[in-house]
Amino acid sequence: MKSSAGSGTIKRALRQELQAARQALATAERARLDLQICAHLLRAMEPGPALALAAYHACRGEPDLAPALTALDRAGHRVHLPVLVESALQFRRWTPEARLRANRYGIPEPVDGADCPARDLDCVLMPLVAFSALGGRLGMGGGYYDRSFAFCLQQPIAERPRLIGVAYGLQLVDSLPVERWDVPLDGVVTERGMLWFDDGG
Ligand code: ADP
Ligand code: MG
Repeated sequence: MKSSAGSGTIKRALRQELQAARQALATAERARLDLQICAHLLRAMEPGPALALAAYHACRGEPDLAPALTALDRAGHRVHLPVLVESALQFRRWTPEARLRANRYGIPEPVDGADCPARDLDCVLMPLVAFSALGGRLGMGGGYYDRSFAFCLQQPIAERPRLIGVAYGLQLVDSLPVERWDVPLDGVVTERGMLWFDDGG
């Protein structure tokens, strides 16, 4: 799929601007925001049944969910991390003891552990560069999440994973170009709390 020049140009400019803003967060402020995000996430998950979750290993200034992932694992949820396979993501079981190895982007991935098909996940916590109040998601530009969850475009929320962005409040933008392959978010968790879009909640 090819993006139109207009959308592509806007997306590239927004990626640069928002990645710079995220990187500019001071260490202490970032740590404070990360703890707030983790607390909101844990509150949203409980009480409830054990879930098959996908999360991510924080890179390049993404909110660090590590304490929340350990707590979710301890609470009986099955946590998975993305593993890059060609141009899509697979999701491999992660525990705090898991052995990790860097992929071609330098992002650590679990080495062992059972893979969970994307369709069998209950909830996906995905990093993003920018999000809109309508649930639009701008990623790093690889389209990996769009490709891996393209099936969600055709399925009602009850029959597919819930897609939840994880972000700092500063990543909210007024509007985002939405291309035909862009998979929208059902919600976003930031330091301000959990926000559900439309009928996501
Ligand atoms: P991101 O979501 O990471 O911000 P884009 O939405 O700009 O990135 O997508 C990057 C590229 O990924 C697109 O130009 C497109 O070629 C490719 N892509 C996205 N979704 C699909 C899909 N479902 N099938 C094939 N290619 C896709
Ligand atoms: Mg996209």
